[in-house]
Amino acid sequence: MLLGVHCSVSGGLEKAFDEAGKLGIDTFQIFTRNQRQWKAKPISDAESRTFKSAFKSSKVKIAFSHASYLINLASNKDDLLQKSIDAMIAELERCDALGLSYVVAHPGTAKDLEEKVALDRVAKSIQHIIEATPDNNVKILIENTAGQGTTLGYDFQHLGKIMDLVKSDRLAACFDTCHAFAAGYDISNKAVFEKTFNEWDKTIGLSNLKAIHLNDSKTLLGSRVDRHAHIGQGNIGTEAFKLIIKTFQDVPKVLETPKEENMDEENLKVLRYHA
Ligand code: ZN
Ligand code: MN
Ligand code: MN
Repeated sequence: MLLGVHCSVSGGLEKAFDEAGKLGIDTFQIFTRNQRQWKAKPISDAESRTFKSAFKSSKVKIAFSHASYLINLASNKDDLLQKSIDAMIAELERCDALGLSYVVAHPGTAKDLEEKVALDRVAKSIQHIIEATPDNNVKILIENTAGQGTTLGYDFQHLGKIMDLVKSDRLAACFDTCHAFAAGYDISNKAVFEKTFNEWDKTIGLSNLKAIHLNDSKTLLGSRVDRHAHIGQGNIGTEAFKLIIKTFQDVPKVLETPKEENMDEENLKVLRYHA
């Protein structure tokens, strides 16, 4: 059913498969590097072999990465923009070496730029990244955001605009339940769920929905504040997750809920009950 979690890679990237095995999941997301640092080594041949052989002997069908939080593809500071572009290119190379399908990335932060100008810069950056990696098959998935501060991507139209400008099959999107809810897109019952995904279909396209982050929300609808809660323990509630499991069986869905005690197991139990 393509249901999993964000796996830890402490002790080695291949450790993600141990966690996946224990949890009985068939998909996961990882950080291929320290997500709060710019510096990251390329994947060595040995690391690539170890990871790929663990992948092959696991039940995991699809795995993907989440890009560094430092990256801002909208930055109007030349040095930060260049660092961001280089970091995305390096991430695509690491993902390729590991046999990962996607890298999830946030569109970026407008800071003092007008949103429209910032979105154009994001599209230009992504275009450049894709052109710089012609032999790479890893797709970039831009994620919808909660819209804290001047973060871009809280409006589905932001993602739609970037996708229209880039026009590449290397670019698709990731839907985060908590971010959508915090940005004002309700999914808590069937009627509003359908309304939200009709909106997504119109602006981004359902065929471009390649991954889903499953998080309940500690904050209220439209709060623009991103705080992940355990499934069924936040303001979204279990009905939304039941609908997601039923509607998007073939889309990989991963939890990004707090790693407390055995809560991954508990959250998976709640989700599997509805499968
Ligand atoms: Zn994210
Ligand atoms: Mn997310
Ligand atoms: Mn979040």
